[in-house]
Amino acid sequence: MIVVLGADCSLREKAAVVRLIEQRGGRLLVSTVGEETHIGLIDSDAQSLAEEIGVMSGVTEIRKVAPPYPHVSREHQPNSSEVKVGGVVIGGDEVVVMAGPCSVESAEQLEAVGPSVAASGARMLRGGAFKPRSSPYSFQGLGEEGLALLSSMSARTGLPVVTEVVAPEDVDLVGAYADMFQIGARNMQNFRLLSAVGTHERPVLLKRGIASTVEELLLAAEYVVSAGNSRVVLCERGIRTFETTTRNTLDISAVPVLKQRTHLPVIVDPSHAAGDRALVPHLARAAVAGGADGIIVEVHNDPDNALSDGPQSLTLEGFDEMMRQLRGIVAAIDRTLAPTA
Ligand code: PEP
Ligand code: MN
Repeated sequence: MIVVLGADCSLREKAAVVRLIEQRGGRLLVSTVGEETHIGLIDSDAQSLAEEIGVMSGVTEIRKVAPPYPHVSREHQPNSSEVKVGGVVIGGDEVVVMAGPCSVESAEQLEAVGPSVAASGARMLRGGAFKPRSSPYSFQGLGEEGLALLSSMSARTGLPVVTEVVAPEDVDLVGAYADMFQIGARNMQNFRLLSAVGTHERPVLLKRGIASTVEELLLAAEYVVSAGNSRVVLCERGIRTFETTTRNTLDISAVPVLKQRTHLPVIVDPSHAAGDRALVPHLARAAVAGGADGIIVEVHNDPDNALSDGPQSLTLEGFDEMMRQLRGIVAAIDRTLAPTA
């Protein structure tokens, strides 16, 4: 429920509404929307207050039907939010490209990939040190050693690092090296992990689960923001459907739907959606044209010998070419992309 207070509502009148809600044990979220003040009631049992509040002076409207994710919904906060990661702003005019290997494998690998993607216009470096693999026999990542490699490449290139955290007990360790936490598709509904990153100061990249609805993604984001961390970026990365020609089906509609429902920035991962590097630039172009605030893409110096996700990883040259194509798209939609070095 949202209580709308008009432009003429006095401070005293506002305080009376807030007091009544709090006295009844309701939690609330206050936002300024133009000239109006909106008070979102978080607990559903607070709905019973609707009639009482509706007759109070200063109240112009009661919206009984409001999304169950007040902190992230656009109804409660109409203005798009921007999430700053190091010096990079996600959710502004710039389309932010995050690039790097699926897994951090060695210092040599990051030496080959980091400076190259930076020169092609990437603004953030990605790479997994803790890998959530479908098989227990697949490469599980270098752990802390991988985090240290990412952090030194970040210092060299100036690119902030986004890397996955898979367990609540690793949050402080990963946060000590990384600029942004990635919550992977497999962990989108790991609610204790969501609450753990919600109490940390680092921003969060939250990926959509392969079998999750848009509403479930928004509720997962609500876990993080309601725990205290408002710096959340959402990521559409393909969902599992009956279609088998791609690794997942990129739900491109999710981009405008999310933009309608939430003020949080939305990016797309064309790599895990496609599963095939030949398709990645096509999906990346569609994502940017469709309003994504950025993309996160896998790039490898030697994809044929990658320890994970080689078939979907772009070569260094392939990434540079994709960035060249994206420049045409951003120009057409009045957005920007970091320049090539
Ligand atoms: C990844 O980014 O390498 C990854 C495992 O992504 P997802 O969680 O989307 O599968
Ligand atoms: Mn991967």
